[in-house]
Amino acid sequence: MSCIALIVAAGRGSRAGDGPPKQYRLLGGRPVLSHALWPLCAHPGITEVRVVIHPDDRDLYENAAAEQRLGPAITGSATRRESVLVGLQAIAASGGAQQVLIHDAARPFLPTPVIDRLLAALNGHEAAIPVLDVVDSLVRDGETLPRAGIKRVQTPQAFGFEALLAVHRAWSGDEPTDDAEMMRLAGHKVAEVKGDERLRKLTTAEDFAEAEAAFARALVSRTGLGIDVHAFGPGDRLWLAGVEIAHDRGLMGHSDADVALHALTDALLGCIAEGDIGTHFPPSDPKWRGVASSVFVTHAVERIAAHGGVIDHVDLTIIAEEPKIGPHRDAMRQAVARLLRLDPGRISIKATTTERLGFTGRGEGIAAQSVATVRLPEGT
Ligand code: MG
Repeated sequence: MSCIALIVAAGRGSRAGDGPPKQYRLLGGRPVLSHALWPLCAHPGITEVRVVIHPDDRDLYENAAAEQRLGPAITGSATRRESVLVGLQAIAASGGAQQVLIHDAARPFLPTPVIDRLLAALNGHEAAIPVLDVVDSLVRDGETLPRAGIKRVQTPQAFGFEALLAVHRAWSGDEPTDDAEMMRLAGHKVAEVKGDERLRKLTTAEDFAEAEAAFARALVSRTGLGIDVHAFGPGDRLWLAGVEIAHDRGLMGHSDADVALHALTDALLGCIAEGDIGTHFPPSDPKWRGVASSVFVTHAVERIAAHGGVIDHVDLTIIAEEPKIGPHRDAMRQAVARLLRLDPGRISIKATTTERLGFTGRGEGIAAQSVATVRLPEGT
């Protein structure tokens, strides 16, 4: 069953104050859109995530989407409805899908159980939406309205792909409230599942301030530790912390044997308790032979991003009598900072010898240790 999530991010969102459109404003140090994407990218029931953007926002989008594996952006149109249609047509043009989830980029907190409930409801329905009861009294022109039967409707909204595409193509009315309204008017029954208060849409500057506070409360800190050793072998250069260094010996290993990046990868994976480098890149698999260890680090970074995590800091110690690390330290910090997409100020590279004791002291190999600190959403 193929299910594509389509995020509508083409709006201008001017009510949230000055600065970029609200879907690109920072929340917890990352663009709102990036938060909206990750639960969908990480969900096993979702095959692909596509984003409809405004043509002026291409750079902002590239930055927001850098952490996720995404299909190419789709250029949106003047209204939300037209942008959804353009998105659906782009999906149809690249092979279509069986199901589609339509989501607003300005709802950065999407609990996974809501996605589960929507996908379950699509068994037997062409449309499903998350709803919440109204708890406050409702008044219009000084007159109290009955609350019974009134629901607040959220996104994502889930649909059979072909049914929604047909309804969009046939639409000739005014701008609708949402896609579910269009389906209802076309005669489809719309199933309702339980929504979530955290899914609310960010609109005003106050919404952003509240969301920032909630985000800070909801992140917990985790620390991971990584250790690795590689033996010296024949060669005239070696890789250490992403930097190639001329030396009278090389390091032996299945990949490029960058012992420092291997320790770093394990520290990062340790923060999300997702095994070690060998779990993700088995040395028995010939496709990792000679591969650059930056591939391993990038994978760990993507796994952390898929959990909605933020890397705060890494500390890396290289244990060797030689080569001397000092002359390469700055280049190493820059290389690791690029891989982690962090400021070099958050990357520590240290070196020590073991006073000629043990295997490193005898010059038989190099060892490395790393510690990483990551903040993750509570419950990860
Ligand atoms: Mg290794």
